[in-house]
Amino acid sequence: MNRGPHRSRGAIAALSVALLLSSCTGGAATAKGAAGSSGVDDPLFPALGNGGYHVSHYGLDLDYDVARQHLDATAAITARAGEDLRSFQLDLQGLKVTGVRVDGRIADFSRKGHKLTVRPAAGLKKGATFRTTVAYSGRPQEMQDADGAWEGWVRTGHGAFVSGEPAGSMTWFPGNNHPSDKAAYDFRITVPSGYTAVANGELRSKRVTGGQTTYEWHSKEPMASYLATATIGKFDVHESRTPQGLPLYVAVDPTQAKASKEPLARLPEILNWETGLFGPYPFSSAGAIVDHTPPRIDWIALETQTKPVYAGAPRAITVVHETAHQWFGDSVTPKTWRDTWLNEGFATYAEWLWQEHEGGPTPQQQFDKLYDSDEDDERWNFPPGEPDEASEVTATPVYERGAMVLQQLRNAVGDKTFFSILKEWPAKYRHANADTKDFIAFCQERTDEDLTDLFDDWLYGEGRPDWEY
Ligand SMILES: [Zn+2]
Repeated sequence: MNRGPHRSRGAIAALSVALLLSSCTGGAATAKGAAGSSGVDDPLFPALGNGGYHVSHYGLDLDYDVARQHLDATAAITARAGEDLRSFQLDLQGLKVTGVRVDGRIADFSRKGHKLTVRPAAGLKKGATFRTTVAYSGRPQEMQDADGAWEGWVRTGHGAFVSGEPAGSMTWFPGNNHPSDKAAYDFRITVPSGYTAVANGELRSKRVTGGQTTYEWHSKEPMASYLATATIGKFDVHESRTPQGLPLYVAVDPTQAKASKEPLARLPEILNWETGLFGPYPFSSAGAIVDHTPPRIDWIALETQTKPVYAGAPRAITVVHETAHQWFGDSVTPKTWRDTWLNEGFATYAEWLWQEHEGGPTPQQQFDKLYDSDEDDERWNFPPGEPDEASEVTATPVYERGAMVLQQLRNAVGDKTFFSILKEWPAKYRHANADTKDFIAFCQERTDEDLTDLFDDWLYGEGRPDWEY
């Protein structure tokens, strides 16, 4: 994610924060099975996600009336029970649920906050694969994060800008809304003809019927819910391939076309440059969505899988950042929201490497400038390995000090080992989840240098470390 230069840091939305922070745990097991737990014990967002099952596939059928801002939808969720279950929960905020079925049979359901509790007609056995369909409709409401930013299904007046970090996917589809449960997705999105609906993965078909156009998108590689998009607008679409043969799909709001032209023209070059640094690109396609969003959205970009969304024309360095996330965040996804420096530290370091590549300062010079800055600077507010508030997930220490940790690691292990880590880390955890402990162990295995002090002080230490490599 990238916010700025006018990033809003103000208001806290009491309602959504309360919803996200309040955690409750599921009921005790009974002879008929357990109630799948509510929340997965995320240290920063304890009420996000649900226990008792893992999703393998989402089939989202979305019919959006742009003029009425009305969504009519069905979600088909294929999951596997991790224990005997008599009920389980899905995350869904707002919208009206009109019916739930499990394996074709009508299921009871109830709602409280953003939890949709489903009670199947028959209990689910541990290991069973089951399919839940949820029919729902209404006007999707965007939500405000603990740091004041808006996310989710953001209505633009000419469609919707759909960006879900960390929690916003539950404003438009029910699911297991936590990065630890990744799944494949199929989208069928129907919009009035003249509008384009852009989701993750590859466009399988586009059909026009009676003034409506239906777009079918297929995203086969596992994806965390926060990386899903179904952005709708009046876009100029350009489909092409990189010289290496990777399909590209680029959708640009016409008002942003001129300013986007040069940075987006560099996308194939950026992908190729990053492949040289980070190893094979992890997905079957790439691209970009450049929208034109209302002023309250401020400036935001998110690394939605295969097609980052940009709230306005991006700079090339922002394209570098969001594209780097395809390796760091999208393919290797954090196990919890506390681990997001593994996303943002790497994406920021990719910016530093790009700036050097473009003839700018070296990463060491970037590091020195930040290290020599005022001790009171916000980058020293908390250690990047240990944010302890939801609002800190996207705060400066996660980005800048996260990248500084990587520069310290580079100085400790040497360039050869460091650049092999940049390739091997995304290779080892390709399409999987990893946390900070995994990263520390991974690095330590690759060097004789004892990295304990480095990580203790630079990742976990309060304030500006008083030493550097
Ligand atoms: Zn980012």
